[in-house]
Amino acid sequence: MDLFEYQAKQLFAAHGVPVGLGEVADTPEQARAIAERIGGVVVVKAQVKTGGRGKAGGVKLAKTPDEAESAAQAILGMDIKGHTVHRVLVDPGAQIESEYYFSFLLDRSNRTFLAMASAEGGMEIEELAVERPEALARVPIDAMTGVDHAKAVEILTQARFPAEVIDSTAQTVVKLWQTFVEQDATLVEINPLAKVASGDVLALDGKVTLDDNADFRQAGNAELEDTAAADPLEARAKEKHLNYVKLDGEVGIIGNGAGLVMSTLDVVAYAGEKYSQLGGHSVKPANFLDIGGGASAEVMANGLEIILSDTAVRSVFVNVFGGITSCDAVANGIVTALGMLGEQATKPLVVRLDGNNVEEGRRILTEAAHPLVTLADTMDDGADKAAELAHSAK
Ligand code: GDP
Ligand code: MN
Repeated sequence: MDLFEYQAKQLFAAHGVPVGLGEVADTPEQARAIAERIGGVVVVKAQVKTGGRGKAGGVKLAKTPDEAESAAQAILGMDIKGHTVHRVLVDPGAQIESEYYFSFLLDRSNRTFLAMASAEGGMEIEELAVERPEALARVPIDAMTGVDHAKAVEILTQARFPAEVIDSTAQTVVKLWQTFVEQDATLVEINPLAKVASGDVLALDGKVTLDDNADFRQAGNAELEDTAAADPLEARAKEKHLNYVKLDGEVGIIGNGAGLVMSTLDVVAYAGEKYSQLGGHSVKPANFLDIGGGASAEVMANGLEIILSDTAVRSVFVNVFGGITSCDAVANGIVTALGMLGEQATKPLVVRLDGNNVEEGRRILTEAAHPLVTLADTMDDGADKAAELAHSAK
């Protein structure tokens, strides 16, 4: 999970990393009130989970509360790289003397943690890494020894930070490492880490990615989630503990086992491609949904209910390989699910069953003779049929 800048800064502050103590606003009037409280120059900053806000006009200095209000007016509602701005952070304006870069991250390819630092911050780090790689220090961090003051000094020296800021910045770097470890982050980044007129070095921006796998031991993570931005179908699926990802096509997909579902997406996309000829649109999968190995009728019903309430869905392809849960149980699950859904079930279902007890499973579905259900013999046949149904329903 990526955090907003203001959330990143709140975590930094909680761990003693120096930041300006601002507040977030979702209206220009609130931005004005915060500017009045802070007094003096403030900076009004778009809160979106993407970089390059400065270049896009999403970061504005304001000398007065009036200016803060109009800056917020201009920034709220702005679209930055496809992200709409719903909130601004109003921070005390800093008088920047130098901009540095610092981050800790999980370096998967080298199976270690990595510190990246540069005395030339501010600009986009990807550009710096390409144009002046020698200006970017990359120092592997041993997970067992971590980062103490001496290690922090070593990193900052290698990154050619000016001598007069190294000692105080090293203290901040140690706290940033503690933030990284204690929050189970995979990235903490400060760009710019700025030396301001008072001589202090503080975090003027913050980017944090938390490891979702640690949610079970990070009680605070749930509160940091941006529920407003989550897809409503995905949010409902999550409540029902379904492994669901919304996609932008028309064929709803249900399968068991992530690998089988991924392959099903591929064959449906392949089968749907032919409709793009003659000036039409290709037919594509509408979602990923893995109901898992031992899926009950209730899980099947929950899955179908989510998929059928997706207004983009025109047909559904149920592709199940009977294993621990045999095909007859799956077939009964489908019949029960359709019964539970009643009138809510309105879109054609193509069902392909194979594996354990397949004959009995097919017999159950044939006997139930539900008007919406078509049986397919193979995965390819099922994909073709589902794509065709989605196309003709358009
Ligand atoms: P980003 O463009 O999304 O990375 O947003 P940043 O938070 O890094 O802001 C972009 C730039 O705005 C920074 O590199 C600074 O040069 C400038 N900036 C941010 N905060 C302040 C501030 O308080 N005072 C001044 N003078 N400039 C700031
Ligand atoms: Mn930045």
